[in-house]
Amino acid sequence: MTEKRINQSLPNNTVCNQQGLAYAGRWFRQDIEMTDKEALSRDGLRPSVLTLEAVRDELGACARCRLKNKRTKLVFGAGNPAAELVFVGEGPGEDEDLQGEPFVGRAGKLLTRIIEAMGLARQDVYICNVVKCRPPGNRNPESDEIAACRPFLEKQIAAIRPKVIVALGSHAAKTLLDTDTGITALRGKFYTYADGIKLMPTFHPSYLLRNESRKKDVWEDMKLVLKTLGLEVPSARK
Ligand code: SF4
Repeated sequence: MTEKRINQSLPNNTVCNQQGLAYAGRWFRQDIEMTDKEALSRDGLRPSVLTLEAVRDELGACARCRLKNKRTKLVFGAGNPAAELVFVGEGPGEDEDLQGEPFVGRAGKLLTRIIEAMGLARQDVYICNVVKCRPPGNRNPESDEIAACRPFLEKQIAAIRPKVIVALGSHAAKTLLDTDTGITALRGKFYTYADGIKLMPTFHPSYLLRNESRKKDVWEDMKLVLKTLGLEVPSARK
């Protein structure tokens, strides 16, 4: 494939290359250049033909597990469809269930502050959960519910093809890494999720609301994420 350069001095929010792939977000609004190869696929091996829209269509009004019974809204995910950084949580809570958006409650506001402390905005990244429907009473999702929903998380990641995934909390880390190891032992280092995609487990923001002293650990993890993405750690936070 030729490495023809595409000038990315384009309007804010959304641009399309000749393959019709849509890109949005600050990294693509910057005056940077990107190759056809990079535009097609970050590992340069094959075009990313799966889209988030197709994954959402396939999910439909999903009734694949019992979590359908009590949900108000299915919470698919939100953010930049070409994000280099994806945050994956456990499942929607009450606010998310009502609004149909991920991480909009108290824990979500803390996640937003973490993202902003990294020098980014929510629209730069993609945010989703392991299960798309709220477990009643905010209980943990059960293994059969995770198994039913997991293929859609995997397809979301395949469509986005991020460079880094941050797994928020034990359930996200265990699901994405296929492990029984807890989050305290897992966090603080990178794992390989798939070829070319690194995964950093860290504490869930709702855990941080109850355990303030762990915020510094999460910030150490986010500094490693920024470094891996080739982004500056904001100087006031180093
Ligand atoms: S949690 Fe996932 S698998 Fe279960 S009903 Fe909701 S979308 Fe479907």
